[in-house]
Amino acid sequence: MKTVKLTIDNKEIEVDSSLTVMQAANSVGIKIPNLCYDERLDIFGACRMCVVEIEGSKKLQTSCSTKVRDGMVVHTKTEKVIQARREILRLLLDNHPNDCLTCEKAGDCLLQDYAYEYDVKFRNHTGKIRDRYIDDSNPFYVYDAQKCILCGLCVRVCSRLQVTGAIDFVNRGFDTIIGTPFNDGLINSDCVSCGNCVSVCPTGALMPKSKEKFRTWEVEKVKTTCTFCGVGCQINLLTKDDKVVGVEPVKNAVNEGLLCVKGKFSFNFINHPDRLNAPLLKEDGVFKEISWDRAYEIIKEKVDKYMAENGPDSFAGLSSARCTNEENYLFQKLFRAVLKTNNIDHCARL
Ligand code: SF4
Ligand code: SF4
Ligand code: SF4
Repeated sequence: MKTVKLTIDNKEIEVDSSLTVMQAANSVGIKIPNLCYDERLDIFGACRMCVVEIEGSKKLQTSCSTKVRDGMVVHTKTEKVIQARREILRLLLDNHPNDCLTCEKAGDCLLQDYAYEYDVKFRNHTGKIRDRYIDDSNPFYVYDAQKCILCGLCVRVCSRLQVTGAIDFVNRGFDTIIGTPFNDGLINSDCVSCGNCVSVCPTGALMPKSKEKFRTWEVEKVKTTCTFCGVGCQINLLTKDDKVVGVEPVKNAVNEGLLCVKGKFSFNFINHPDRLNAPLLKEDGVFKEISWDRAYEIIKEKVDKYMAENGPDSFAGLSSARCTNEENYLFQKLFRAVLKTNNIDHCARL
């Protein structure tokens, strides 16, 4: 590995020579603002929020696309840099609805966060705003062009990571929006409704359709494993008042921040009133709720009885695709190692 030495905000660092200035800064805890960068994707350089001053260079440079060099001296928070970022935000907000009070994204919106941090207000001095174009043809999510800052994250996630390529930039200039090849609605495109574009959108332009009413500071995030298949994608369940109100993907080695349509959008069954959340015992033809302790007692009594009467092969276990790999592993271990039978199968083969 070849390394280079450089200075960022008066901090001397040594990093891999393949890194960009932004990656080098991140590696030592110096955060550089950006609206179009994602470490999983190729560099786009669209938003320009990540500009920095590099000694010896007359112009500001975008840190996401500038490679580190030996002896480089970088400043990320000079007056010139701050003014450039403020101007970029002004231009973005000139073409944006002043809607933060009721916008579902408020509190979780990078554009709003940066406007606050850099003290930039809505002003719309041109008096022009993009036509209100909303594509709500997809059953799971909605696109609002007025809140779109054309960062391109959705397009790149869809083509590079999801590998579907359902959406792209359409039209030109002021009329540019995110759309589908024939501009006839997401429902008529190749979209598989994975929602990965929704997960990366930094503003309220792409939002889940059935979003429950909550602000980001009202929810608790509980990291868990998606129960829909054995891949084991990691998710954060967003809970408010003991109710699951949303799901967000976790960036880790298993799913790298991606999900499929089931993991992303299908969580309402968790709160459904018909869902069983206690064991039931059928007595005289009627199901009655019992405690887990009582259920285990009954299971143990029956296992002991039939084991004594008929031996291990009188048992069979049927497991589920809705369990994690680890749970399925434990289930077969229980049958093979404890009950001593190989009568074990899985619902996927039924
Ligand atoms: S997308 Fe962000 S900046 Fe725009 S209205 Fe919604 S919260 Fe405000
Ligand atoms: S939901 Fe998935 S397939 Fe559809 S546009 Fe978004 S990323 Fe592409
Ligand atoms: S919809 Fe969201 S992710 Fe896509 S370009 Fe617009 S702001 Fe960026």
